[in-house]
Amino acid sequence: MPFSTKFNLQNRITYFTLVACALWTLIIGTSLIWNIQHEYADTQELALSTARANFFKDQAFRLWASQKGGIYVPPSHKTQPSPYLAHLPDRDLVANDGRKLTLMNPNSMMREITEDYAELYGIKGRIVGIVTLNPKNRADPWEEKAIHAFSAGTTKEMVEDSEIDGKPYLRMIRPMTMTQDCLKCHGHLGFKVGDVRGAVGVSVPLEEYNQQAKASAINLSITHGGIWLIGLTGIAFTARRSRQRTEEREKSLDELQLSACAFENGLQAVLITDPAGVILRVNPMFSEITGFSAQEAVGKTPKILNSGRHDSEFYKTFWLHLIQDGRWDGELWNRRKNGEAFAALENISAVRGPNGDIRYFVAMFQDISERKRSHDALQRAYGENRAITEAIHDNLYMLDESGRLVWWNKRMQDVTGLSEEALRGRAGATFFIEEDRAMVQTAIRACFETGYAEVQARMITAAGPVYYHYNGVRVLDEQGHVIGITGAGRDISESKEAEARINQLNQELEQRVEERTAELLAAKLEAERANHAKSDFLSSMSHELRTPLNAILGFSQLLQFSSNLTQEELDNVDEILKGGRHLLELINEVLDLAKIEAGHLDLSLEPLDCGEIAQESLNLLQPLKERYQVSLQAILPDAQIYVLADKTRLKQVLLNLLSNAFKYNRPNGSVTLRIETVAPDKVRWIVQDTGIGIPPERQANLFQAFNRLGVDQVEIEGTGIGLVISKKVTEAMGGTIGFESAYGTGSTFWIELPCSRDSGDIAITHQQTDLAAADPSATVHTVLYVEDNTANVKLMESFIKLLPNLRLITAHNAELGLQLASAHLPDLVIMDINLPGMNGYDALHQLNAMEETRHIPVIALSANAMEKDIAKGKASGFFDYLTKPIEISLLMKAIQGALNRAE
Ligand code: ADP
Repeated sequence: MPFSTKFNLQNRITYFTLVACALWTLIIGTSLIWNIQHEYADTQELALSTARANFFKDQAFRLWASQKGGIYVPPSHKTQPSPYLAHLPDRDLVANDGRKLTLMNPNSMMREITEDYAELYGIKGRIVGIVTLNPKNRADPWEEKAIHAFSAGTTKEMVEDSEIDGKPYLRMIRPMTMTQDCLKCHGHLGFKVGDVRGAVGVSVPLEEYNQQAKASAINLSITHGGIWLIGLTGIAFTARRSRQRTEEREKSLDELQLSACAFENGLQAVLITDPAGVILRVNPMFSEITGFSAQEAVGKTPKILNSGRHDSEFYKTFWLHLIQDGRWDGELWNRRKNGEAFAALENISAVRGPNGDIRYFVAMFQDISERKRSHDALQRAYGENRAITEAIHDNLYMLDESGRLVWWNKRMQDVTGLSEEALRGRAGATFFIEEDRAMVQTAIRACFETGYAEVQARMITAAGPVYYHYNGVRVLDEQGHVIGITGAGRDISESKEAEARINQLNQELEQRVEERTAELLAAKLEAERANHAKSDFLSSMSHELRTPLNAILGFSQLLQFSSNLTQEELDNVDEILKGGRHLLELINEVLDLAKIEAGHLDLSLEPLDCGEIAQESLNLLQPLKERYQVSLQAILPDAQIYVLADKTRLKQVLLNLLSNAFKYNRPNGSVTLRIETVAPDKVRWIVQDTGIGIPPERQANLFQAFNRLGVDQVEIEGTGIGLVISKKVTEAMGGTIGFESAYGTGSTFWIELPCSRDSGDIAITHQQTDLAAADPSATVHTVLYVEDNTANVKLMESFIKLLPNLRLITAHNAELGLQLASAHLPDLVIMDINLPGMNGYDALHQLNAMEETRHIPVIALSANAMEKDIAKGKASGFFDYLTKPIEISLLMKAIQGALNRAE
């Protein structure tokens, strides 16, 4: 039943209960009020009856007394002769015995009786009138109203509730008519017989009656209250019963609905038959499983499901159980409508009536064919798995969540040599030797925490400890709870031995490598030492050669300025200069090669515009065109190509190749420079000549230092080092060098260098040195030259003589130079570096330390011409650093620059 309906029913019961209570209360209340009112009315009636009775009795007394013409009584203090009867002659009489008697009228008589015996009488009665003898009898307004009504004949009695002396009374009044007897006393007042002369009133005290009525009302209230409560209890009880009945009805309705729902929607097939086995009802699941619709099944017997797979013995047992025990459970092979047999898990019950006889059979079953198939498949798979795990050569295992062995394969048992009882429940770590157990335990923990772990440890086998590699993965149940770990262990004793052997070999190898490294280190140190020695040697050789060369070249240059020389002498000077310069070139190239070979080649690779480099190189070679009578042409690419190279070194290589092309050419020959892009990232510089070429048998000796391939015999000047340097420099810049040569026809030399995609920040500065512009001012400047070599001093003196505005003072050591500097304060100091005693650096330091000489520019002039020497000199504070042999033009330029600054 829906909740709302149920709720409404309960509400209606409550509603009816409340209405019944209200009605009951109303009935009882009405009855109580009616009864009380009735009780009070009865009381009133009783009081009225009493009043009437008294009236009639009093009236009888009065009438009797009137008829007797009043009564004579002895006068007393209280009963005095009535003044109102004074008009009667016989009012007072004297009896025979002398006693005096006076007449009393009936009214006075009654009044005295009621007054004298008020306690006994209880009821007050009196005669009243409008016209009276005695004013005491005068009617009050209510009585007067009644007398008038009586006179008019409208009523014969009037009654009212009243209060007398603060107490309740019932007053009743009736008319009194004049009779013949009344005339005696009242005739003189003008009344006639038949006139309503007045009225007689009776007052009955109601207090007692009221108390009785009140007591009755209380009794009635109690009785009614009791009845009311009993009624309410009855209503409440009825309501409760109704509620319970409603709930029970609802419950049974719910159960009915649930049963119907279970029957209709149950996942089990339900079939109900009568005791004879005739099908009465089937549910939808029955039809779904068997294929028989309800219409097809009802009226038939369960034989329609008979698969024929069970023998008569089976059915005998089946019926025996069903009749004796009232139920049968088991598997039954049934048949669907389409003839297909299916396995059903059945439960059949006999439903008995109150007298124990079978009323129905209820069969419930479910199709378990699929489950049986899965089970069979599972069994098969299990069997297969079992066979596989038995065949596997590794130890397979499974530990439960507490790390104890719960499953293993045959191999595990064979390896450990333990019985099944000994294996089951054994902690995983205890399969390993004592020293390795902590490690194994850690791995097991890690596997539980992270889901996977591996460990290599020594397992206790039947044959003793053996190295095993175990892995493990965490096993989770369907809810994701960890239920254990499983994995495999493999005997790795062989690989462990191999590993040990490899380790040993590695150690040996490492030792040998260390020894060899030590040897190589020693050799390297030796090589470095030798290299160092070689550098020192070259450096000092350079110095030693430059010093005499300074004199040779210096004086030769000076001689060129002399005007006294004959042409022949000038030619000789030229030869000296040529030889000297050749020697200088040789020294420079040898030093350069030595530096390159020592690995001291500092390159600054930057993107260079090929056209610009080519142009600069060609410009430098212009003089060679005339000298060798060879034409020069350049075939440059239209587009700008950038090459990644060190500018100075690239130019050095190009100049070497181009100058060779001139040198080894023939008169009227030609030199061609071509730049080509040979690959997206490669630029080739090609220098082609139409010269003498290289004999094929000598080509293999090219790029060997000092090997001039025989050209030295044909007096072509050269050192045989240029190409070696070019090759090394090109390769250091990431390029290659090559050549082709046809003897007698010409040679083609080329270098290939990597391209640069863009120009980068190319800052090319052109420094032009205008030697001719050296123009010493008219002022005479003093130059101090500190030099220990007399040839050099003489050379400088000869040079300065050529310049009239310069005056030279010399010092042969630094100490003297410092004295002369502070004494003469020269405009410029030219300082040698290698001086006896204090060297040039210290002298510069001293000059800078003295206030008076600090401003004087100092030019270093040294035979220390290695690059590092020049760099050191410039960094020390020299104005310029010139190397020997002196190049006159460079010296001039330096002097001019220093003097300009000094000014
Ligand atoms: P150098 O030119 O100073 O002798 P190089 O190292 O530049 O030294 O050249 C080595 C030798 O290679 C030269 O002596 C010369 O025999 C040969 N050679 C170089 N360039 C050419 C060339 N363009 N034509 C013929 N022979 C050349």
